[in-house]
Amino acid sequence: MSNDSTDEAATASSDFIRTMIREDRRQGRFGGRVVTRFPPEPNGYLHIGHTKAICLNFAVAKEMGGTCHLRFDDTNPSAEEVEYVDSIKNDIRWLGFDWGENLFFASDYFGQLYDYAVDLIRRGKAYVCDLSSEEHRQHRGTLTEPGIDSPYRGRSVEENLDLFERMKQGEFETGSRVVRAKIDMASPILTMRDPILFRIQKGVHHHRTGAEWHIYPMYDFAHCLSDSIENITHSLCTLEFLDHRPLYDWILDELELESHPQQIEFARLNLSHTVMSKRILRGMVERGLVSGWDDPRMPTLSGMRRRGYPPQAIRSFCEGVGVTKKNNTIQLARLEFNVREHWNRHAPRKMAVLDPLPVVITNYPDDQVEEIEAINNPEDPSAGTRSVPFSRVLFIERGDFREDPPRKFFRLAPGREVRLRYAYFITCDEVVKNADGEIVELRCRYDPATHGGDAPDGRKVKATLHWVSAEQSVRADVRVYEPLFSAEDPLDVPEGEDFTASLNPDSIRVLSDCRVEPGLVGASVGDTVQFERQGYFTVDPDSTPDALVFNRAVTLRDTWAKVAKKG
Ligand code: ATP
Ligand code: MG
Repeated sequence: MSNDSTDEAATASSDFIRTMIREDRRQGRFGGRVVTRFPPEPNGYLHIGHTKAICLNFAVAKEMGGTCHLRFDDTNPSAEEVEYVDSIKNDIRWLGFDWGENLFFASDYFGQLYDYAVDLIRRGKAYVCDLSSEEHRQHRGTLTEPGIDSPYRGRSVEENLDLFERMKQGEFETGSRVVRAKIDMASPILTMRDPILFRIQKGVHHHRTGAEWHIYPMYDFAHCLSDSIENITHSLCTLEFLDHRPLYDWILDELELESHPQQIEFARLNLSHTVMSKRILRGMVERGLVSGWDDPRMPTLSGMRRRGYPPQAIRSFCEGVGVTKKNNTIQLARLEFNVREHWNRHAPRKMAVLDPLPVVITNYPDDQVEEIEAINNPEDPSAGTRSVPFSRVLFIERGDFREDPPRKFFRLAPGREVRLRYAYFITCDEVVKNADGEIVELRCRYDPATHGGDAPDGRKVKATLHWVSAEQSVRADVRVYEPLFSAEDPLDVPEGEDFTASLNPDSIRVLSDCRVEPGLVGASVGDTVQFERQGYFTVDPDSTPDALVFNRAVTLRDTWAKVAKKG
């Protein structure tokens, strides 16, 4: 976990789930134990939505002196891969959580799950059904109409056992038969209308069990039983599973299992301007709409890490959002706020000029380079100071100069004096242009008496600009980002279009002629700094020793007003 306690809410949070669990403990339910689990399906990389479930499960267990299991729900071999298992583990550790020895795979229980299904068949509570998926749909009924019993519902226990065994042996084709629970085709809850427990997936390779199995358990069957096998006490899941709770309980009750966890549902995290479905995110990766799962615009943990979002900020965000029973959408700006707040306290300040305009200080000695003392972090005096080279030719930000300044523009203009941060006051004497009339250089004078950035005669300037020395600064690429989607709800698109309709064409912009202060040479991938007046920037893995590449994590201020207008 973070050793920076100020990043975390100091007091233990309270919500309806913690209240319920505390009450269970008070009453001695589950012997007072608390065991939770985070059960990802390894069919993609973790996204910010998952972190809500991760933070909740791990934090609740820790607060209550319990444990939290990491269990891969790997019951769907066609979509799952080892790459995803590894990335999920890596991301959870990066977030700051530890499952210790409690790493499990639902696939480790395939044998037990098969036996449980046999047990249900023996008890007359499950049967083999030969309806096609189309017939199955027709028999299922609707919310207002009851379903119809399958003609195979009355099969004898012996016949069911024989067919199920032969399903296991791989005798039947994919889709030709399933095992269903025998519950109630007229149940008002669709999930209870003889749900499928096992299906055939013949000849599919599973990332852990290989070709061993031709049948695979359905999520609803595997999940409650995996929870029970692991002696989970509280099975926390999102609201969509509310209608699955009766089935969760039915299976464990019919099998008369002693370990019967309590399922509790909470509202999932929805973020504005963000898609949070692994299936869609995978589609974006496969279609090349982003550079990969770790594209800094992706809502994945790997993308956010690369972008420069620190785990502490993501955890603070999840804590701040809290746990409720009501679905709502959180503004992306709120996550950015947490990121900004963290880096404001922790990121060293540097100077970088993203759109350089040369400035020649005409009264500064040609061959002189002096070291200017600069403060590393005004929020953290212990961060100390550094020196930055100053010389006759500097770069300032092109946008910090206007030849014909509008009324409220206080930065550099002809005849005007401004401060160069930590260095000197300069006054612009001359604007040099090329044949096309473009400004290519400014010629300025500096006042040596203003060393350190203050005038001894008390004269004031209205602007302070950042700068770098032309000769000593180093070139860098800077990638600046906007939300990947312009629409607040990217899936809410006109008929006939898909989510790509709401992709933001300006979500990435690469600035390739930036200049950064020489102190950044040798920065490591993942290092995050504040470029004064610009925002927080993180060294990208594409960096080489000769060419730094930075990602803008967040701006210094909330820029959402602008996005809202565009959207
Ligand atoms: P996806 O559609 O992205 O695959 P999922 O729920 O199918 O989401 P799982 O890997 O099955 O993904 O999810 C693992 C856990 O994460 C589940 O307990 C699920 O409820 C939780 N989870 C997933 N998305 C969110 C979210 N947006 N908010 C809170 N919890 C979530
Ligand atoms: Mg899923």
